[in-house]
Amino acid sequence: MIDDLARGGRLPGSVCVAGGGPAGMVLGLLLARAGVRVTVLESHDDFLRDFRGDTIHPSTLDLLHDLGLGERLATLPHSRVSTLDAVLNGARYGSVDFSRVGRSRELWFMPQWDLLNVLAEAGRAYPTFELRLGTAVTGLLRDGDRVTGVVADGPDGRSEVPADLVVGADGRHSRVRQEAGLHLVQTGVPIDVLWFRLDRQESDPADSIVHVGRRDVAIAIPREGYFQTALLIGKGTFDAVRAAGIARFRERVVASIPFLAPTVGSLEDFDDVSLLDVQIAHAPRWHVPGLLLIGDAAHPMSPAFGVGITYAIQDAVATARAVVHAGGPARVGERTLAGVQRRRALPARAMQQLQRVAHAAISRPAVLGVLPSAPVLQRVLALPTHLTRPVLGQLVGAGLRREPLDF
Ligand SMILES: Cc1cc2nc3c(=O)[nH]c(=O)nc-3n(C[C@H](O)[C@H](O)[C@H](O)COP(=O)(O)OP(=O)(O)OC[C@H]3O[C@@H](n4cnc5c(N)ncnc54)[C@H](O)[C@@H]3O)c2cc1C
Repeated sequence: MIDDLARGGRLPGSVCVAGGGPAGMVLGLLLARAGVRVTVLESHDDFLRDFRGDTIHPSTLDLLHDLGLGERLATLPHSRVSTLDAVLNGARYGSVDFSRVGRSRELWFMPQWDLLNVLAEAGRAYPTFELRLGTAVTGLLRDGDRVTGVVADGPDGRSEVPADLVVGADGRHSRVRQEAGLHLVQTGVPIDVLWFRLDRQESDPADSIVHVGRRDVAIAIPREGYFQTALLIGKGTFDAVRAAGIARFRERVVASIPFLAPTVGSLEDFDDVSLLDVQIAHAPRWHVPGLLLIGDAAHPMSPAFGVGITYAIQDAVATARAVVHAGGPARVGERTLAGVQRRRALPARAMQQLQRVAHAAISRPAVLGVLPSAPVLQRVLALPTHLTRPVLGQLVGAGLRREPLDF
């Protein structure tokens, strides 16, 4: 307690967060802001790494504005949309509408490393916040059946970080989950995703994301100067795609997104293409005494609808609120941890169901092959799209359970 006060902590106890992704960084910042002593351990030396999604949905934007970070983020390169459009056989549909979601009413595309850097900068303003980069959690400290901290490997070798509460925010391959003896239940997923970058020209559309062609589904996310592009393939078929050659791959991309024809030639070989092994899974139990899993560590999400970041951040808000309401990490018992799981598991599972429906719809080449022509499709889909777009906007943009900054 004396130590907590010396470091500016107003609430007794300390938290160690494993993983500096969206969930871990938001949790670290919120706890520090509430006067909790928190150490975030991130295995990478920085936040610059492979593409891992760069959507900031309206609910997250509202949160970032409430934290006073909106203006800072607005100075960084990003693009904004108020609808997510799908293009089916050449006809465009505004399939998700954010224009009535939250206060922000739009979605920003911003590289995830920029968001994480801003969160780190904001966290460091608090004396109770510590971020250790290049430090990987390798084990747990225990007192009987209670977790009392972590063992980590960092630039100075092995260290121990004692904590009243350990939070595993270390992503889909969570080491913390494994060390705690918690497990995932996998849901079969029929697709994998191949990601690559292609130059963006001035004349290219900036707001259509999903392109459904007669054979394939492709994605083009507009970024400054380029498209973060993806082709969906059958689960486990990357070797076959590679064997068919890069020229065939380029043809498939252009067949789904014709406006990429002038730039697709820059894909020289499969070294420019990375595979995302798409996963949907959930941990039936998120906690053991002294430890809680959140974000992808508790429920790995598919990239469908780009909601993994939103749900991970909402878990972080719910966790920070629970710790503060309990009176600090030293007072957090299993009931509090179970309460976080009860609150967050249902929305995550429900969104995962929606992702499964989306996978089923887009993973059947036979269905794509018999899609009617654009004018017919446009007539057939006009009414359902009109009805579903605001609902999808709420589900995707705000989540099934809002997590306001009310503590
Ligand atoms: C290619 C791809 C595209 C995606 N596209 C989108 C998208 O457009 N929009 C969207 O919302 N979601 C997308 N997702 C999903 C999204 O990235 C995740 O749902 C989200 O990042 C989960 O956040 P998280 O903080 O729980 O975990 P992560 O973002 O995975 O963060 C975990 C962190 O823990 C660190 N870590 C791992 N092990 C250790 C350890 N032992 N010790 C210390 N640190 C450790 C990792 O380095 C990482 O920084 C995508 C995912 C992928 C892979």
